[in-house]
Amino acid sequence: MQGFEIRDGALAVENVPLATIAEQVGTPAYVYSAGAIRTRYRALAAALDPLGIAIHYAVKANSNQAIITLLRGLGAGADVVSGGELARALAAGIPADRIVFAGVGKTRDEMAAALDAGIHLFNIESEPELETLAEVARSKGTTARVGLRVNPNVDAKTHAKITTGKAENKFGVPIERAPAFFARAGELSGVEAVGLSVHIGSQILDLEPYRQTYVRVREMALTLRAQGYGLRNLDLGGGLGIGYRGEEGPDPQGLAAIIKEQLGDLDFELAVEPGRWLVGAAGVLLARVILVKQGETKRHVVVDAAMNDLIRPTLYEGFHRIEPVVGRDRADAGMADIVGPICESGDYLAKDRPLPAVAAGELLVVRDAGAYGAVMSSTYNARPLAPEVLVDGDRWTVIRPRQSVDALIALDKVPDWLAG
Ligand SMILES: *Cc1c(COP(=O)(O)O)cnc(C)c1O
Repeated sequence: MQGFEIRDGALAVENVPLATIAEQVGTPAYVYSAGAIRTRYRALAAALDPLGIAIHYAVKANSNQAIITLLRGLGAGADVVSGGELARALAAGIPADRIVFAGVGKTRDEMAAALDAGIHLFNIESEPELETLAEVARSKGTTARVGLRVNPNVDAKTHAKITTGKAENKFGVPIERAPAFFARAGELSGVEAVGLSVHIGSQILDLEPYRQTYVRVREMALTLRAQGYGLRNLDLGGGLGIGYRGEEGPDPQGLAAIIKEQLGDLDFELAVEPGRWLVGAAGVLLARVILVKQGETKRHVVVDAAMNDLIRPTLYEGFHRIEPVVGRDRADAGMADIVGPICESGDYLAKDRPLPAVAAGELLVVRDAGAYGAVMSSTYNARPLAPEVLVDGDRWTVIRPRQSVDALIALDKVPDWLAG
């Protein structure tokens, strides 16, 4: 992956050795490569621009203001799933008319904020949500543009917790119900149904489910048009996976070819909403070994990063390569579990991994942690949020400082009647 290089046997992010960053900001710390994000964005845009497909970055993958700003500068719009993400996208300068609002449970306040901002489109996931949005829009004397998120009942062949396009998932309405939904929308003032959207899951490595999905979307889009609905927008989802084991992973040209094949001959406004593919491989989590515990059957390498910093292994059985930062040419010393200090058996970053002999104080790097890393972190065990660093060539900046324990404590308020 571009952005990460071995220099004198040590891992560097662009021109900055990770050891330098660890020394100056401490560990654990997230480090991102601006160059890697640019490379990914440009590769995606090169595949999609010729087909006129807009890119709406799925902000939930990494919502640091610096990352959103970087992607905005490259031309990305935004896919947001909460009022907070909407505010972040707007604060980063993404034009409102390039923002799409998705999610199964938007509140009235969130809908109102998005209407006030003048966003491009709401992707609506149920009839009750449609009715509520219509009410909120009417109360403001405006009309909300709506895309219907349909569930194509396709198996994305990814982890159960990140598959979203099967009939039993909570997302969208069954695709065959789209005509009824459009009919209902037509009866309501305050909403104008203009599109369909799909998003079948995340970390999708096999492109075939996309094809099956777009076959169904095409069919339904044509049906709706034939019924006289003014359908203009097709939002084709995110979900493109990355090679967490160091393999290439799917190529955006492959996705573009499928889109072209299924939808290229129809005059719809097309958009995709990738998150992980743009930022996942562009970030790492730096950790330091606290101690090594050699048990009878296992070597536990206890590090200062934990499930509160990176929950993907615990939550999704997510695989991340873990490697020493310096002295990388050492031989493996058998298997190890790399675990955090949190009081949960689920607190691990990797299990049964070949790893060289490592010593207390040594730096390890958890690869491909740029997506669904920092954004999913918590302060469990009163562990402050880890800092985030952005590297660009020779320069680097802390784009979120490490939270202090004092700041963490100051978030709480002790009632006067308990204080004395
Ligand atoms: C999470 C999400 C995405 C992005 O998924 P990735 O796997 O990160 O590409 C896109 N669209 C919607 C509706 C989402 O919920």
